Amino acid sequence: FNVPTPQNEPVKGYAPGSPERKELQNMLKTLRSQVIDVPMYIGSEEVRTGHKKPMSPPHDHQHILGYFHEGDASHVEQAINAALGAKHAWESMEWEQRAAIFLKAADLLAGPYRAKINAATMLGQSKNAFQAEIDSACEIIDFLRFNVKYMAEIYAQQPPVSGNGVWNRLEQRPLEGFVFALTPFNFTAIAGNLPTSAAMMGNTVVWKPAYTQIYSANVLMQVFREAGVPDGVINLVYVDGPTAGNIIFNHPDFAGIHFTGSTGVFQHIWKTIGENIYKYKSYPRIVGETGGKDFVIAHKSANPKAVAVGLSRGAFEFQGQKCSAASRAYIPSNLWEDVKKYLLEDLASMKMGGTEDFTNFINAVIDEKAFDKIAKYIDNAKKSEGVEVIAGGTYDKSKGYFIAPTVILTKDPMYTTMCEEIFGPVLTIYVYHAEHFEEALELVDQTSPYALTGAVFSQDRYAIELATKKLRNAAGNFYINDKPTGAVVGQQPFGGARASGTNDKAGSMINLLRWVSPRTIKETF
Ligand code: NAD
Repeated sequence: FNVPTPQNEPVKGYAPGSPERKELQNMLKTLRSQVIDVPMYIGSEEVRTGHKKPMSPPHDHQHILGYFHEGDASHVEQAINAALGAKHAWESMEWEQRAAIFLKAADLLAGPYRAKINAATMLGQSKNAFQAEIDSACEIIDFLRFNVKYMAEIYAQQPPVSGNGVWNRLEQRPLEGFVFALTPFNFTAIAGNLPTSAAMMGNTVVWKPAYTQIYSANVLMQVFREAGVPDGVINLVYVDGPTAGNIIFNHPDFAGIHFTGSTGVFQHIWKTIGENIYKYKSYPRIVGETGGKDFVIAHKSANPKAVAVGLSRGAFEFQGQKCSAASRAYIPSNLWEDVKKYLLEDLASMKMGGTEDFTNFINAVIDEKAFDKIAKYIDNAKKSEGVEVIAGGTYDKSKGYFIAPTVILTKDPMYTTMCEEIFGPVLTIYVYHAEHFEEALELVDQTSPYALTGAVFSQDRYAIELATKKLRNAAGNFYINDKPTGAVVGQQPFGGARASGTNDKAGSMINLLRWVSPRTIKETF
């Protein structure tokens, strides 16, 4: 194909004294010393409504990083009109020209904007330097470069068979109308991927991020504009979800939604789209990656240290605010004492605090609502019979929304925290009889409605085979002897089924194909 062969962007180490650490620390200082004013971006306009809302680091909630201008229903309408107005020119552009824009965006993020996007993610979403590097630098750069490759493959697909006197063709058209990108707070890379993957295929987009991600979304938008995304192709609005949804889902030109967020919101949106279905020109594409209750199951043959490390990294990196985070574990009785020892040792080494101190591993959860929800699960666990909090269990929101990595041990495999998505640094463990692996697999499969990620640890190939077969539908991303997190674009296409999403694998050709509507042309000579 006539596009560069993508390589995964190397992850920078930010070692003490390294130039990249110094650059990032300077950028953090600069951003902290400013109070920025963040407009919406609609067509060629930077829109300032005067309804200003503050943005603060979750780990230092009294510090103001800036204000964003909140919009209302009229701004959503303006954004739809801008998207529809830009559509014809954008979809008529040769795909190589569109590709060049997104490759340039990747280069800008890899080079001149790397420190800025990482610092914005560290301050705005409370991620440490290494997490920000993986999310807001490497993953989004990979999404852009790999998606360009998949895009090229789609346009280069073999044509259908033609015969004597007949020429058959297949044309990949963008969707008719506009696409709505609705993005969550927890990954800057997702916020970058959802609007750009649809736009790449010739669509124009209205993008609404979570309010708690606007600080880094603003940097992404600066990158897209500098890379040459034309006015109106990606329109960024800050309007509350239901208000935006009310305008979007009633619009005849609504052509598709690219969503990542909670299962409840997605189900509500799907129902609304269903109720309005007769209003649309086309059946809208509904693509959504949603919640998870991701598991780790160990077999009696597993290496207990590997299990413990898989649990501590899988559950507590990113404060557990990762859709793929390990949040329920099934440990065989013969391994439990060893797994517990290693797990508690590892937890004791995890320092908690603000992201500006690079030695902090655990940072704050995103906001007060999330903090209160997670704290409630912990308090209930402390009061429940047959349930014990064996690590963490403390929290403090005086300066930032800090929750210590918490491990709950339950005798009941159906206890609430084994079943419900908490989306925070809380891991629940059930110890099963070491000889009852098959029954434990049944539990894994049936305990939760979700099916996003999961992992099995075992040195026994029969057990690995059994788990792989029995848990076929329990996870869209299944790991053997590894934590259930950390999917890399181009290596492990990511997405879940059941209540975890439509499984249109982010960063894959499967996903990009959802943003085109093919036309078959038969010509007879
Ligand atoms: P959320 O569902 O609260 O919000 C997602 C987006 O929807 C936000 O922009 C929000 O403002 C908007 N929204 C909320 N209510 C709405 C409504 N009624 N109408 C229209 N829009 C509405 O999710 P979140 O808290 O930002 O993110 C965390 C969730 O995302 C978790 O459940 C997590 O598992 C999930 N997630 C899933 C994946 C995945 O790939 N499966 C990845 C990341 C996050």
